[in-house]
Amino acid sequence: MSDTVTLDLNAVKLLAEGALIEAGCNMANAEAIADVVWMAERDGCSSHGLFRIPGYVASLKSGKVNGKAKPKLERTAPSVLWVDGDGGYTPISHEAMQDDFIALVKAQGLALAAITNTYHFAALWPEVEMLSQHGLVAIACTSYKPVMAPHGGKEPLYGTNPLAFSWPREDGTLVTFDMATAAMARGDIQIRARDGRKLPDGFGVDKTGAPTNDPNAVLNGGAQLPFGGYKGSHLAMMVELLAGPLLGENLSLEAEETDEDGIGPARGGEFLLAFDPAKTRQSSPSGGNAERLFEAMLKQEGVRLPGEGRIRRRADVAENGVRIPKSLLEQIEV
Ligand code: NDP
Repeated sequence: MSDTVTLDLNAVKLLAEGALIEAGCNMANAEAIADVVWMAERDGCSSHGLFRIPGYVASLKSGKVNGKAKPKLERTAPSVLWVDGDGGYTPISHEAMQDDFIALVKAQGLALAAITNTYHFAALWPEVEMLSQHGLVAIACTSYKPVMAPHGGKEPLYGTNPLAFSWPREDGTLVTFDMATAAMARGDIQIRARDGRKLPDGFGVDKTGAPTNDPNAVLNGGAQLPFGGYKGSHLAMMVELLAGPLLGENLSLEAEETDEDGIGPARGGEFLLAFDPAKTRQSSPSGGNAERLFEAMLKQEGVRLPGEGRIRRRADVAENGVRIPKSLLEQIEV
């Protein structure tokens, strides 16, 4: 990146909030979205930071996404909290459901938050980590628009379909992974296209179905590929089913069919399942053997725990600030 500017984290939040309010959000929605954008930049996850603001703004301005969403909650079964996101971006739903959901998981031992009628445009680790900060084990997934071919195919059918998991450790820290089931998150492919960098082998095909290393060929009529061949492909299918039909929500292919403006994310659901270890581990209340696992992993040279990369990047951002292309800043400030 040749022409860049460096911002501090406070400026990131103000910039995001300002753009979202200007695009039609009320303060509650703007703050909730700006918080996850801020968290992404704080942890060096640029593909879900300010880079996303033009997409958020475009879908607010087109009227597709409701910037004044007031999510509604309903207990549809003893362990199911159903959330109607009121057509808004997902962070306001997370905020609205957080207290009720944590109380429900602690009362029942496990519970599902069925988040519907929403637009997910962020990373998933903020929501699973929020739950693990309250001592819960959490799993989340969501689908998107068809951009990835199933294993063996060449045409987009699945979203990049991320899956996130978080585990609370005894010392209060968390072990969290959050990964696209595509070989690479779409935002990272877009960033490579913007910066003129090629893709590794096996990440995508062009519009003829031929393997390509050109991010533009994958983005314009081609298809992304799952990680790990048919195994990643099956996980992507599971995400489609859990975040879509299980919740009465769209598949990725349906999300695209009903997408009004073709920009930003499409309407869909989020599956968020959490367990309270205090209720599930009666025979061994401490759960200390999880620590044994982590210690054994770390004894092996070359192994690190997922989530540690973000903690390291967080320290770097705290010291050096957030670097973004000047062109992105100009686009957000308009
Ligand atoms: P990465 O491939 O960068 O990382 C996946 C996970 O693996 C992370 O938890 C990461 O943790 C961990 N990890 C990476 N390298 C190592 C290593 N060497 N050893 C141990 N763990 C490691 O993520 P993706 O590109 O697949 O996804 C990026 C983001 O995109 C996710 O946050 C996802 O939620 C988001 N996304 C959102 C979508 C949406 O529709 N809302 C769609 C698709 C993706 P660490 O942080 O420690 O590096």
